[in-house]
Amino acid sequence: MKDISEIRSDFPILGRKVYGKQLVYFDNGATAQKPQRVIDSVDEILTFFNGNIHRGVHYLSDMASESYENARQKVAAFINASGKEEIVFTSGTTGSINTIAFSFGERYIKRGDEIIVSHLEHHANIVPWQMLCERKGAILKVIPMNSNGEIITGEYLKLLSPKTKIVAITQVSNALGTIVPVNEIIEAAHSNNTPVLVDGAQGIQHGIVDVQKMDCDFYVFSGHKIYGPTGIGVLYGKKKWLEELPPYQGGGDMVEKVTFEKTTYNHLPFKFEAGTMNYAGAVGLGAALDYITELGREEIAERERQLLSYATECISGIEGVTIYGNSERKISTISFLIDGIHQYDTGMVLDKLGIAVRTGTHCAQPVMDFFGIDGTVRVSMCFYNTRQEIEALVQGIEKVKSMF
Ligand code: PLP
Repeated sequence: MKDISEIRSDFPILGRKVYGKQLVYFDNGATAQKPQRVIDSVDEILTFFNGNIHRGVHYLSDMASESYENARQKVAAFINASGKEEIVFTSGTTGSINTIAFSFGERYIKRGDEIIVSHLEHHANIVPWQMLCERKGAILKVIPMNSNGEIITGEYLKLLSPKTKIVAITQVSNALGTIVPVNEIIEAAHSNNTPVLVDGAQGIQHGIVDVQKMDCDFYVFSGHKIYGPTGIGVLYGKKKWLEELPPYQGGGDMVEKVTFEKTTYNHLPFKFEAGTMNYAGAVGLGAALDYITELGREEIAERERQLLSYATECISGIEGVTIYGNSERKISTISFLIDGIHQYDTGMVLDKLGIAVRTGTHCAQPVMDFFGIDGTVRVSMCFYNTRQEIEALVQGIEKVKSMF
């Protein structure tokens, strides 16, 4: 793997100061920073190749379309989909989940059916299913969690029944960092003839994802959390599902033939891509995937394991700090509170020291309710973070304690 200073210099924002202090960026779970290569790729398409995709015969449209389809191929290879027609571009994880909740719901969900999610979910993997349940009279079932922040798989098995029509589960808890045993969840669901959607928003960043090995039916993630641009995301679906499901939105490009009497739909994946897509974003995502593939995904995961281990040791050693989420299997995320100090106060003092952390419920209010708290401070690290930054954080926490 490249030397850390070389890696950091790939990300121009990491060199900047805030409030006159060197930036320490520990909010990678909310959005990751972008290497110059991603910024350049978006700049290049907008500067030299901008033309609406799949529409024109002219040079610019052809070039933009080719770049967009190359990006799709890169995503397919990155997650090991069996073909690029299984990759639908969306606006992000939220857009992808809403697409499936709508399309799958329209086709398969009826009154009394059950949908399983877990207590660990981000709101994006709760609310679209609740909306579906409201529309169709279906019932949302929730896999409970334990005090380590893990789902209780034994309870999950009890929830599965012939009424279960889909399981939607996160690969990693964004609030606590817990890695969920999705393989086990999928295997049990499939023995019950139930498909599974995996929310990979946090999982895609921190390890190798192989959708064929995992055998999930749908896998979704956002470009911006994997060092790509905002406004672009991925919906992977097994071909047989995507072929069966009705389109989510109607409009240009998703159609084959339109008459006032009847419209037929385009083949995959275009059936799910209505209107002008974010082709510049897709190209940027492709560049991000190239970047991390070249850096080495195993090496990235190993570096992040070391950062987690060091940060856990340092933060848990501070008197008066409680860490929430103590699973053996975690990504490099630590959620904590300092006794008697509100998370916003901690976050604001750290911010003035140049340290960016996330505070609040992390769009996972049920997780906070479970612990009886109204939020945490979340430190989400990735491969470009350093031990020195962790030490700066520890000093920052001590400063917060001395001020309150
Ligand atoms: N699911 C999880 C686990 C997340 O962490 C997030 C964002 O933090 C989302 C879904 C929603 O992602 P986006 O806002 O990019 O659609």
